[in-house]
Amino acid sequence: MAYNSVNDTQQQKANFIHIQIDEDLRNGKNESRIHTRFPPEPNGYLHIGHAKSICLNFGIAHKYGGKCNLRFDDTNPSKEETEYVESIMQDIRWLGFDWEDRLYYASDFFQNLHDFGVKLIKEGKAYVDDQSAELISTQKGSPTHPGDESPYRNRSIDENIDLFMRMTAGEFDEGSRVLRAKIDMTSPNMHMRDPIIYRIIKTHHHRTGNKWVVYPMYDFTHGQCDYWEGITHSVCTLEFEVHRPLYNWFIDQLQETGYRPRQIEFARLNLTYTIMSKRKLLQLVKERFVNGWDDPRMPTISGLRRRGYTPESIRNFSDRIGVTKTDGIIDVSLLEYSIREHLNKTAQRVMGVLDPLKVIITNYPENESEELDAINNPEDAEMGTRKVSFSRELYIERDDFMENPPKKFFRLSPGTEVRLRYAYFITCNNVVKNEKGIITELHCTYDPASRGGNSPDGRKVKATLHWVSAKHAVKSEVRLYDRLFNDPEPDGHSADFTEFINPESLKILSDCYVEPFVRNAKPLDHFQFERLGYFNLDYDTTSEKPVFNRTVQLKDSWTKEQSKE
Ligand code: ATP
Ligand code: MG
Repeated sequence: MAYNSVNDTQQQKANFIHIQIDEDLRNGKNESRIHTRFPPEPNGYLHIGHAKSICLNFGIAHKYGGKCNLRFDDTNPSKEETEYVESIMQDIRWLGFDWEDRLYYASDFFQNLHDFGVKLIKEGKAYVDDQSAELISTQKGSPTHPGDESPYRNRSIDENIDLFMRMTAGEFDEGSRVLRAKIDMTSPNMHMRDPIIYRIIKTHHHRTGNKWVVYPMYDFTHGQCDYWEGITHSVCTLEFEVHRPLYNWFIDQLQETGYRPRQIEFARLNLTYTIMSKRKLLQLVKERFVNGWDDPRMPTISGLRRRGYTPESIRNFSDRIGVTKTDGIIDVSLLEYSIREHLNKTAQRVMGVLDPLKVIITNYPENESEELDAINNPEDAEMGTRKVSFSRELYIERDDFMENPPKKFFRLSPGTEVRLRYAYFITCNNVVKNEKGIITELHCTYDPASRGGNSPDGRKVKATLHWVSAKHAVKSEVRLYDRLFNDPEPDGHSADFTEFINPESLKILSDCYVEPFVRNAKPLDHFQFERLGYFNLDYDTTSEKPVFNRTVQLKDSWTKEQSKE
């Protein structure tokens, strides 16, 4: 299967929702107001799919000089928590968006919704059904067969009012009765076959406490909240397309003025190698496949942030993938491309050695050191330079040395000369091993005339290595993250998705050395470790050493590997 990558998605920028809005504006609809909303259910942390919806909804408000509300869709007290509410607000702000004073909760409208339910009963458009939700669903029929009418469908208005009030007062058990809209059991649209609009749930609600024991269903809540908040364009994902006639039916019953919100659907984001269902993400957390919602391997906003993603990179990704009307899967390497692109321009360069091999510069005086100039970011001259300390004992990367190198190996080996970045040319003269034959030290000499890494006489070296001064470097822990799943569609098989978890998704290196510049870093600061990738400082304080998370490698190793196959 081919997945969308950079080039084919960049074409999709023309956004069909903008075109529909332009048309509404031309027709003067809703007095030419533009008002959108982002309506998360506080039953989990936000993920990259939600980011697409956030960028789209707040983006529309921005583009048209309109407004975008944040609305918590908190109609199911059994799954919702305040922790989720707080994290959702933090994530939206971090992404760079602001709902100003327009924070709403569906629960703000519980009384209005209840009044509306009563109004429908009084108009003969709703009834209490004494059957269970399970039984009701067996009577729904199929798209080609009409459903069966409930034996309670033609109760009197008075009896319905009485029963609904008693439901509201808590007289009946959970599951024993529901309120249904009386629409059409023969409608070809299953959602119009007398949908349930209220059910009994006797659970504490995070905002209204124990005040209510009847709760409105999603379909009965969403459009009405849109209406009361003055939303003009209710943008949602494609699975709600079939709910649209019901959305409109409720608005028809409610409408008191010429204004009406309009539902527009778009394709949700799916990403390769990624699970996007909140239920499954919760499972990963609960069953400890990951270390919490903000584990850097999670596709949550908080996980991506901790991994080292920036708001800009996520917004750019969202622009790049565009908005479409057909479901597809985006290649996760496009997301990785976006962060690489942003960090390349902005990240401070430092040198860090992940797998240290000691190098002794035998002709460098003991107990001395000097400071050399290093460039902070070659892409941005304004970021300036810094000093790096050089001394007699250094670390280089173990795999930058080979005792018996093959022909094409140009890095350090006995007798060869290489450049230490920003420092000197060095030549390896001697290899020291322990009793197991493992190399413990290299003895090298440096050429004092090559200071700054410049050739003194035009002679060339074939490799430039990164390094740190042993006595100056900061001992650090580095966490190398890889994709959490080793299958491009972990959710697309009959097998349980957890079977596709990549056992190598986290590798912890506890003996790394990074140049002292990082001592002043704050959690979540970004760095490029030269030649190795992008890293950021973690906020985990359980380790005595600073912890760095690898955000991404410098190059896309997965795509390279796949094209080799
Ligand atoms: P559920 O309703 O099953 O808990 P959800 O993913 O729909 O999960 P919501 O909190 O209802 O979660 O989502 C809030 C908004 O984000 C909705 O408008 C929804 O359409 C949008 N959204 C959710 N997932 C995606 C996605 N993968 N791509 C784009 N938008 C999404
Ligand atoms: Mg939802």
